Amino acid sequence: MWYFTEEERALQEVTRDFANKELAPHAEKHDSEETFNIDAFKKMGELGILGITADPDHGGAGLGATAATIVMEEFGKVCAGSTLSYLAHSMLCVNNIATNASDEQKAKYLPKLISGEHIGAMGMSEPGYGSDAVGMKCKAVASGDDYIINGNKMWITNAQYADVVYLYTRTGEKRNDLTTFIIDTKATEGYSVSKEIHKMGMRSSPTGELSFENAKVPKENRVGAEGDSVSHMMRNLEIERLTIAGISLGIAQACVDQCLKYVNEREQFGKTLGNFQMIQKMVAEMASETEMMRHFLYNICREWDAGKVSNTAAAMVKLQLPKMATKIALDAIQIHGGYGYSREFPLERMMRDNKLNEIGAGTNEVMILIIAKNLIKEAAQQ
Ligand SMILES: Cc1cc2nc3c(=O)[nH]c(=O)nc-3n(C[C@H](O)[C@H](O)[C@H](O)COP(=O)(O)OP(=O)(O)OC[C@H]3O[C@@H](n4cnc5c(N)ncnc54)[C@H](O)[C@@H]3O)c2cc1C
Repeated sequence: MWYFTEEERALQEVTRDFANKELAPHAEKHDSEETFNIDAFKKMGELGILGITADPDHGGAGLGATAATIVMEEFGKVCAGSTLSYLAHSMLCVNNIATNASDEQKAKYLPKLISGEHIGAMGMSEPGYGSDAVGMKCKAVASGDDYIINGNKMWITNAQYADVVYLYTRTGEKRNDLTTFIIDTKATEGYSVSKEIHKMGMRSSPTGELSFENAKVPKENRVGAEGDSVSHMMRNLEIERLTIAGISLGIAQACVDQCLKYVNEREQFGKTLGNFQMIQKMVAEMASETEMMRHFLYNICREWDAGKVSNTAAAMVKLQLPKMATKIALDAIQIHGGYGYSREFPLERMMRDNKLNEIGAGTNEVMILIIAKNLIKEAAQQ
């Protein structure tokens, strides 16, 4: 973008280079084998991006949503699964700790998460509570110097590798009585990964179900006061929605780039595909939609960095970008014909991966509910 700072441009260059060297060559293998590219993840620590939004005092880069989204876009172009795991670690775990935890908790947990020695995850969704996450049932009950936690968390990205889980629990009967804990998975008896989840896409990102059976967690691991976690959750969901849209932008751009190449190479009826008007229409639309996605997303990221973004704007980005990227990926497959449908090209993987972005961090339908509710309420107050 024309308004990126020198620092953001440098980040874009470095992460593009990293993506091409460390992620792209292994993306197909990790997708087909459903394995996690842990070597690349560890190297992200050396690159200094695992705590991209965290305070430099704790080893973070001290950057904002624009910078984090640049990384998502560059990584998303080549391996959305690895990018989703990076997002769960850096946005859902590290950013939450950096924003909401005490200085002691930050000093204890952030350095190893940011160096890549530890892998982070975030547990909010449950088997029976997804869109209605605030209705969650996983319960923490105070007992002496500890809390005893019982319940399950579903769809947790990085579950099988997580050293640290940023965990939302219920601590009271009122709907908003939610409290967060930092779970040191290796030191918590009664904690386990009860199920590995196999998926249509994002297959290089491990997903699992977490189980807490009378898990004893020290009170010092509670984040903030009892019952004040809903506001933390909502604020973090904003940056999560912007950054996950960054993965969709990367996927859309990769599809456009691949199509522009292919329409100049593939010949039918004695002409390259780029000569056919129906193909031209698809290319022109996907390229202009991608440009529109880019401008909308980075503009809202800039607002977030300036402390302005609203729940509505983040939901609008999250509704539109993943939806458009799915359409773009499907058109890219169409342009490639049978080759697009085959695994010779990464397009079918990109389409499978992107579909998750219409579900995770709040579904399209939930984004519509948020946008409509906020706009109609604001209009009624005028
Ligand atoms: C690969 C993957 C990774 C994930 N990673 C994490 C993670 O790391 N941490 C975490 O906590 N969660 C994670 N999630 C969970 C994700 O956030 C939820 O899947 C998502 O919020 C939707 O919840 P659900 O799957 O239970 O669907 P449901 O809530 O059961 O929704 C089913 C359908 O009903 C629709 N619906 C629901 N309510 C309404 C309504 N009021 N009006 C209209 N339609 C409605 C939905 O839009 C959807 O189409 C992940 C999910 C996946 C698939």
